Amino acid sequence: MTMNKVTVIGAGTMGNGIAHVFAMNGCSVYLCDISDDALESAIQTIDKNLWRMVAKEKISEETKEQTIGNITTSTDMKSAVEDADIVIEAATENEEIKLKIFKQLDELTKPSCILASNTSSISITKIASATNRPTKVIGMHFMNPVPVMKLVEIIRGYATSDETTQAVVELSKKLSKVPVEVNDYPGFVANRILMPMINEAIYTLYQGVAGVEEIDTVMKLGMAHPMGPLQLADFIGLDICHAIMKVLYDGFNNPKYAPCPLLTNMVMAGKLGRKSGEGFYVYNKETKDVKVSPSFA
Ligand code: NAD
Repeated sequence: MTMNKVTVIGAGTMGNGIAHVFAMNGCSVYLCDISDDALESAIQTIDKNLWRMVAKEKISEETKEQTIGNITTSTDMKSAVEDADIVIEAATENEEIKLKIFKQLDELTKPSCILASNTSSISITKIASATNRPTKVIGMHFMNPVPVMKLVEIIRGYATSDETTQAVVELSKKLSKVPVEVNDYPGFVANRILMPMINEAIYTLYQGVAGVEEIDTVMKLGMAHPMGPLQLADFIGLDICHAIMKVLYDGFNNPKYAPCPLLTNMVMAGKLGRKSGEGFYVYNKETKDVKVSPSFA
């Protein structure tokens, strides 16, 4: 199966990273979003990240130019997907939005096209049910930041075929990633293990067992985690962490996955972590200064 023509739907944090990686590996990439601003800022981010790779002598300036040249941006989904061999959807984590996108993709793409989702937690089986080709629908869960992180969690929906899975495994290897195949249950593997740990760290803070820096230091120095769980929660986005805990809670119908009330409160207060400027830490964009949020200091 040749998969040289790739479309990425959604040009946010993950979409721009996914487009970057495919384009750097010689694929012709359409990057599609409903927002012109998102597309413009995605290209700026990819350009900045490629320059960083040139500066570190990981790629040549010529490869950088070729990579940028391999990416076309568009707000028109029809023209962006009609020729695609595979579409990777990385739009906002919202079930209604994803079901609508997959219904459209099913109508607009050629019948052989594989439809993949980068969802962190929404059921691939449910997403596939919006199409008439559930054998060709699969999860391709890249990690953030995509150009750096090696793992791709490949999620087989209830009806995903062996052929589709094999094609996506091979494609991931072509991108120099390490694919790991998992089945479609709430949180898959990555978030089923990671999110309860983050939620427990938030409970530890909420119950006054220790402060933000103490909790993060225990996990960094004691468990050799590169980032503490509260810092990681800020990096991922507290709204995303909350949404994934809800998926686990509802999916398993088990109170052990209930989101910590502190997490719920912070999301309601708009303290979403790095992207909103404050979560467990405060982020100063100009000075790049990071310090513990006054609410917890
Ligand atoms: P984001 O908010 O940064 O970007 C989402 C983009 O989707 C926005 O630019 C938005 O304009 C666009 N969009 C919304 N509706 C659209 C539509 N109908 N058509 C085209 N574009 C549309 O989100 P993100 O963090 O990049 O997450 C994207 C996906 O990746 C989500 O499913 C998320 O769960 C998953 N994911 C995120 C991370 C992470 O660390 N952020 C990690 C792994 C997976």
